[in-house]
Order: sequence, then C-alpha cells, then structure tokens
Amino acid sequence: MAPKKVTIVGSGNWGSAIARIVGQNAQQYPNLFDQTVNMWVFEEIVDGQKLSEIINTQHENVKYLPGKKLPENVVAVTDVVDSCKNSDILVFVIPHQFVPKVCNQLKGNLKSDAMAISLIKGLSVNPNGGIKLISEEIHEILNIEVSVLMGANLAHEVADEKFCEATIGTLDKKKDAEMWFKLFNTENFRINVVEDANTVELCGALKNVVACAAGFADGLKLGDNTKAALIRIGLMEIIKFIENFYPGARLETFLESCGVADLVTTCYGGRNRKICEAYVTSKKPLSEVEKELLNGQSAQGPLTAEEIYATLQSKNSVEKFPLFVAVHRICKGEVPADRLIECVRAN
Ligand code: NAD
Ligand code: 13P
Repeated sequence: MAPKKVTIVGSGNWGSAIARIVGQNAQQYPNLFDQTVNMWVFEEIVDGQKLSEIINTQHENVKYLPGKKLPENVVAVTDVVDSCKNSDILVFVIPHQFVPKVCNQLKGNLKSDAMAISLIKGLSVNPNGGIKLISEEIHEILNIEVSVLMGANLAHEVADEKFCEATIGTLDKKKDAEMWFKLFNTENFRINVVEDANTVELCGALKNVVACAAGFADGLKLGDNTKAALIRIGLMEIIKFIENFYPGARLETFLESCGVADLVTTCYGGRNRKICEAYVTSKKPLSEVEKELLNGQSAQGPLTAEEIYATLQSKNSVEKFPLFVAVHRICKGEVPADRLIECVRAN
C-alpha cells in the first residue's frame, strides 16, 4: 500500500505542537506515511511577513508556538483545499467555531476514502435543539470517518516533550488503532486507543467549561478546597451530561487521560482558567481579556458554555446543571462571578 499522505488542518498553539510529533513520526515510518506532512495555515502577517513563509523558511510558528522548531518535512500550505485534496489522513485542530466554514470549503474536494481525526475540544449546536459533536459535524459535511484525540495535553508542555498521555477514541479499534498509534505515539506522548469515542470527545469539550469555573475561583481567591469542590461538581455534571445526551459511556473512559487528567490540567494550567481569572480580577469583558492575554489563541470554554446552555434550555434541563449554567451566565455578565458558589452550593 502507498504511504498515506497526512494534512494537519490548523496551525495554532496545539496544531503546531502536534505537527512536531506527526512530522517526526511520519519520518520514522516511511512505509506508512508520506514524507511530506502538509499543515494548513490560516494566513496572517506577523512582523511584516507572511506567517506561512516564516514557517517554511524558519521552521517555526513564531506566533502560536514560538521557540519550538517544526520538523522540516512539515510544510505550510495556505489554500485549505490544496492542503487536503490529495491527503489520506486529515488531522483537524482548529478552534471549533471555524469548523463549519473550513469543512464547507473542503466539501467535494477530498479523496473518497480519506479518514479524519479531530483534536478539537468544543461542541456545535444542532439547529433543531440539542448538541452535535464536532466529529459528527465534520462527518456530516465531509462524509468521512472521524476519530478523536483528547487528553491532558497543554500544548506548550507537549512541545517541551514533558511526559503526558492522550486518549484516541475510534469507532473501529481493530481497523484503525495501529495507524493512529504510529502517527501520534512517542516516548513522552503516550497514546491509548479506546472505542468509547463519544465519551472521549465530550470529556474534552466539557472540561473547558469547568476550567472557567476554576478560573473564576482563582480570581476570587477562594482557595484550593473550593477549587477542588468545583472540579468535583464539574466532573459530576460532565458525567450527567453525557448520561443524558450521549448514553452508554464506560466508566473507565473517565479515568483515561481525556477524563479526569485533562480536567485537572486545564483547571490548573489552561487558557480558559487564565482568562476567567483575569475576567474577575480586571473586570474587563472576556473578549478583551482573551485578546490581551492569548495573542490570537482561542479559549473554547465560554463558547462551549453558551452552546451547552442553549441545549439545556431546549431540553428543559437548565436546573440540573448549575455549574455549567453559572459559568455561562457569569461569562455573559448576567450574574456576578462572586455568586458562583451560591449557584452550585446545593450540590
Ligand atoms: P489556537 O487557540 O492557538 O487558535 C489560533 C488558531 O486559529 C490559529 O492557527 C489561527 O490562524 C486560527 N484562526 C484564526 N482565525 C481563523 C479563522 N477565521 N478561520 C480558521 N482559523 C482561524 O488553536 P489551538 O491551540 O491549536 O486549538 C485548536 C483546538 O485544539 C481547540 O479546540 C483547543 O481546545 C484544542 N486543544 C488545544 C490545546 C492547547 O494547549 N492549545 C490542547 C489540546 C487541545
Ligand atoms: P486550554 O484551552 O484551557 O488551554 O486547555 C488546553 C487543553 O485542552 C489541555 O489538555
């Protein structure tokens, strides 16, 4: 079989960190993977130069992952269709709000047997009520199989090659597990493949909302016990949400990297935590804080909280998820952050 061509659809903070791993692993398995890995870059000008040109000459994404070299076989391509049209494997890693636009551009322009994996942590709202997983959204638009990779993976620590783990959720482990393992696993980025893909993906999306609560607590200086209580309540809401809307989760999945581990790392070291802390301390709007602190990166928690809230409203379930709802209302400025504990106290 011909080596598979891989494209990384995205080149932000996580997209660039994963490109380091995928580029290296493609080189390690020349019979399995094409030696050039495409990376789709949403073009922008950085210090008077095109970001794609900087990446292709300096082999570094100076804006989204400064100080870390990309392997030279990772090539930036700015036309999303050109970057994907001859590819067998698409690694989706863009902020979730851009998925429909990007996928609609790709529609009808892919190999019919292309496969995808989504590293995107977020949700989409179904126009007729309820949520849609990002993997479902990609599948619906492109009609390709979509696995997911989630885990306790702060991009800068992965790029520093500090040990961590990640969970791949795939619908057919027998068919796909070995290929995904070889594409992503390294000594310091340990992959475990499971078949409970919906739970893997939902854990990745929902923990961002809990991280916002952790950030509010930090901003309010509520201390470690309170933060731990919020993480526990948040975990219970994650489990309840999955039971209600995507039943059939396996308990073990919550104990994978995509579950408790990602919840913990994001509540302590993530961008959602950081901007929500600053929202409380600075009293500036969240959008302003995100702009000031993240330099073009996107925290997905506030938008995910809004998407969850719309779903809970359409299902008459708002009162069952006090933490998720409080996060949304605080992000929107409808409830002051110092009422967070009052909102969740009864749990
Ligand atoms: P990011 O937060 O760095 O976002 C910036 C990226 O968005 C840039 O590549 C930018 O060019 C792109 N962008 C801006 N406007 C755009 C537009 N209109 N259309 C398309 N792209 C546009 O991105 P990231 O950190 O790579 O995150 C991608 C996904 O991975 C998210 O769902 C995130 O939750 C998830 N994730 C992130 C991390 C992390 O530590 N950064 C870890 C695990 C998972
Ligand atoms: P943040 O987007 O909050 O930084 O979380 C990153 C992440 O998903 C770590 O696993």
